[in-house]
Amino acid sequence: MARNATQEILLDPRAHTASEVDAGEALRITVVDGQQVPDIVLWARADPADRLSPTASQLLNESYLMMPGCVLYSQRATALAEVEACTAGAGVIVGGSCSGPLNYARFGIPDTPNCRTNLLAAGAPYGAEEADVQHIYCPFMTIRRDADGSYVIDLPEAESGDYVELLALVDLVVLTSNCPQERTPTNAFNPSRLHVWVGPHGASRPTIDTILEEAGGA
Ligand SMILES: [Zn+2]
Repeated sequence: MARNATQEILLDPRAHTASEVDAGEALRITVVDGQQVPDIVLWARADPADRLSPTASQLLNESYLMMPGCVLYSQRATALAEVEACTAGAGVIVGGSCSGPLNYARFGIPDTPNCRTNLLAAGAPYGAEEADVQHIYCPFMTIRRDADGSYVIDLPEAESGDYVELLALVDLVVLTSNCPQERTPTNAFNPSRLHVWVGPHGASRPTIDTILEEAGGA
């Protein structure tokens, strides 16, 4: 991308994108229609093997919810990005993305749209393989945990205009899957649109009104 410029893309339901975010730049993902979750993979552009580790992030933040102020770490404990804002929910870091095999195991239906396929397609220009897109950050996703260790996926809290914003701490590649899951409450059983913006930290962000104006109705 041209430096000191902004780039943005409206992600239709079930779509995906790859973004290059320089150190010091921000990436903002805005919920356009409401109750929608992105699945995000990121790695250091200098070394694609230096990629997001939910385990390292959980350990070093002492939390499985990535609240504002938390840092997303790589498997080599590189600080990749800071969560600067998350206006709804808390940001689940533990757990994999939906995939064809998982969907088949859960629902008995082959060839369903899924984040794994999306992330592989988004990462194809970078040579990403299946092992590169296993570990995700999932802001807005709601997972309720019980003391006995059981958990349940619940409806996401994010409404139209809610957003998550990451500050890149090193030069990054960020893959975003607009989660196509429609058989669990993850996206309220109705995948909808997301908006992805990348730009200098000090640049003004598009408002939800602007995004909706340019995007048109749902
Ligand atoms: Zn998904």
